Amino acid sequence: MTQTPVEPLLAQMAGDLSALLERRGVEDPAMVGIHTGGVWVARELHRSLGLEQPLGSLDITFYRDDFTRIGLHPQVKPSDIPFSVDERHIILVDDVLHTGRTIRAAMNEIFDYGRPASVILAVLVERGGRELPIEADVVGTRLQLVLGEHVKLTGPDPLVLEVH
Ligand code: 5GP
Ligand code: MG
Repeated sequence: MTQTPVEPLLAQMAGDLSALLERRGVEDPAMVGIHTGGVWVARELHRSLGLEQPLGSLDITFYRDDFTRIGLHPQVKPSDIPFSVDERHIILVDDVLHTGRTIRAAMNEIFDYGRPASVILAVLVERGGRELPIEADVVGTRLQLVLGEHVKLTGPDPLVLEVH
């Protein structure tokens, strides 16, 4: 079983994010974590970057709307966006990027609040298997998982990623 320590990945993500924000000349960005794993990762990054806007969160659950077809359809539940989205640069954070459907749903939700100046995507794990044209700007680690495998965050001391 592969075990990857998480702390160095978070430190590297924070560095990559600062560099990207500086390169783009982004001022006063806001961060949004996707429940539940994404909120945990976002909390760490939000602290490292010392962002002034309070951390926001989106709650997205999966449901199946068609039993004849295996497909996961992310649905957005009530969210906490404690800042104005209009013309703001948003950093969207999730723990794992797989098909891209969660991020698609999250962006729909964000656009219901207003028109952001830009959206940056940061994920702890990029696991392949995309079904939509969505890629992350900042990635902690890339894992090539086969069908049936998933990545699990365990810890807390030390926090590690395990592939099962
Ligand atoms: P997607 O919508 O891109 O297919 O899946 C991403 C969402 O599903 C993430 O919010 C994540 O919580 C969850 N997810 C997908 N694959 C994995 C995995 O291998 N491990 C964990 N822990 N979560 C996953
Ligand atoms: Mg999730």
